[in-house]
Amino acid sequence: MKHCKDAVCFIATIGDGVEKEIARLTEEERLFDAYILESMGSMAVENMVDAFFKDMETKYNAQDKGITLRFSPGYCDWSVKEQKKLFRLIDATRIDVTLTDSCLMHPRKSISGIFGIHPFDGDNPVFQYNPCSDCMKKDCTARRA
Ligand code: SF4
Repeated sequence: MKHCKDAVCFIATIGDGVEKEIARLTEEERLFDAYILESMGSMAVENMVDAFFKDMETKYNAQDKGITLRFSPGYCDWSVKEQKKLFRLIDATRIDVTLTDSCLMHPRKSISGIFGIHPFDGDNPVFQYNPCSDCMKKDCTARRA
């Protein structure tokens, strides 16, 4: 990121409808259905952010710029407490996303993050660097291949 001239910060959510339904299913002791819906909700918000990220990549590539991988507070070596900084930059109340005292987002199916924008240089290893390739956290569900 230190080589980037600009950065994009984002907060995205699929809302709280899914988690309300999960709570209802759990109350009815339909735990398997709740588990499936939990997984589907996580995939839905991830897919939404992936689509946004790909759109941004296309947009910046057309301007002869590249973008880094995206990073989120609470992953890698970025403390979840830094979530507050992102929320100071973006008015998340417009999409009804709030932070708890422990810096978790509500609705839970929300993702915040940042990626850098750099002059296009597809051969520059700094811009292609993927920290997951050097990371020892083998059980990380966010590992990028
Ligand atoms: S595997 Fe990748 S995403 Fe997961 S903690 Fe390591 S660097 Fe971060």
